[in-house]
Amino acid sequence: MSITPPKKKFATPEEKIFPHKHCSVCNKIIPEYSDGYCSAQCRGFEKRKERKGKKKWVVWLVGGALIAVLLIVVLITLQPSPH
Ligand SMILES: [Zn+2]
Repeated sequence: MSITPPKKKFATPEEKIFPHKHCSVCNKIIPEYSDGYCSAQCRGFEKRKERKGKKKWVVWLVGGALIAVLLIVVLITLQPSPH
């Protein structure tokens, strides 16, 4: 009697024979030395997602910079003038 690993419904024979990875997008079996995607389609899909994530990151960075600048301006205006 063998215990089947969780998450997997079945294991193809190849899966047991050679070391492998799974496609980051569709979870297909791919060679271990590949870049993590089974096809150009999956690679493109992930790239699009990446670009979106990068954009979000830039928005946060710009927002943070704006808040920092505002804080500096407020701090400078709040400083007692030497006059
Ligand atoms: Zn794929």
